[in-house]
Amino acid sequence: TEPESETEALMPKEQDNSLRPRRMDEMVGQQDVIERLKIAIDAAQGRGEPLGHILFDGPPGLGKTTFATVIPAEMGTTVEMANGAGLRAPKDLLPYLTNLSAGAVLFIDEIHRIPKSVEEYLYTAMEDFRIDIILGEGVSARTLNYELRPFTLIGATTRAGMLSAPLRDRFQIREHLGWYNQSELCEIVQRNSNKLKIAIDDGSAGVIAARSRSTPRLANNRLLWVRDYAQSKANGKVDAAVTAAALDMIGIDTLGLDKQDRGYLDTLMRVFLGGPAGLEAIAHTMNVSSDTLEDEVEPFLLRTEMIVRTRRGRMATHKAWEHMKVKRPDASA
Ligand code: ADP
Repeated sequence: TEPESETEALMPKEQDNSLRPRRMDEMVGQQDVIERLKIAIDAAQGRGEPLGHILFDGPPGLGKTTFATVIPAEMGTTVEMANGAGLRAPKDLLPYLTNLSAGAVLFIDEIHRIPKSVEEYLYTAMEDFRIDIILGEGVSARTLNYELRPFTLIGATTRAGMLSAPLRDRFQIREHLGWYNQSELCEIVQRNSNKLKIAIDDGSAGVIAARSRSTPRLANNRLLWVRDYAQSKANGKVDAAVTAAALDMIGIDTLGLDKQDRGYLDTLMRVFLGGPAGLEAIAHTMNVSSDTLEDEVEPFLLRTEMIVRTRRGRMATHKAWEHMKVKRPDASA
């Protein structure tokens, strides 16, 4: 298994759940997505039909699972949670599908990871609420037909591009979740500090927001660390200086980059002299999986223009050299 970055390790998924909004109106940001979903939910309920299947895509920690929790809550129905990585064979899908009550939601996280053989069973399930499983082989093969209760599939992926067209096309609603701005992140930090019963001023919330890489999960993660730090080092008092010191201590810099992010830039700049370098080569040198880099590290570096992707590979930009304070090798060297 891959070592998780230290900051991610500070926050297991269970802690995600304690701070996760329960209702759509507790969610911050993503207003256009929320508007469209409300209309779709309203219309489906008015017609007495299940809500159309929904696909969410976007980098980790931006609210895909949260939407999969609040949508069924809005509709007054239940949700079954699955992960694409766990659905290795058609039989793995069956218990989820047959357990669903009428109008309920099946959430499949990392849906791009389901193998083709399982994906094909999803087609009839999504279209006709039916699944045909072939048991045995050759002359003794039998087909079992299951009628399913009407349901809504919510899929989440960090890689919309890796989904096959036939699967993608079966989602009536497709939404891309974008990054959160500073004021949205501040609001999330403030709300969650209330939930955690910690007094936090605007300055501290601002520091956490600025160092959260535009990602709510990271804002929560940083907030929990700041709470622990303040409790043990500052008598529980959180101010901007304490917050900055807490985050410095775990290697989160002023732009919100953690050790893994800086390790990536450092590798690209020192080992590959700023690039162009292939993703696999960078991943090998750092001894992490290229998936982790592509999903968790590169999106923010690309968006903040610290790196660019060219046909020949990744390249560090002027901004990266400045931020990392690495001396640029002589162009002639
Ligand atoms: P994803 O499934 O995209 O990886 P999650 O939905 O698990 O991300 O979000 C991670 C955490 O971030 C949630 O537990 C929640 O606390 C917080 N979060 C995400 N989106 C929002 C939002 N729009 N408003 C408030 N908190 C959010």
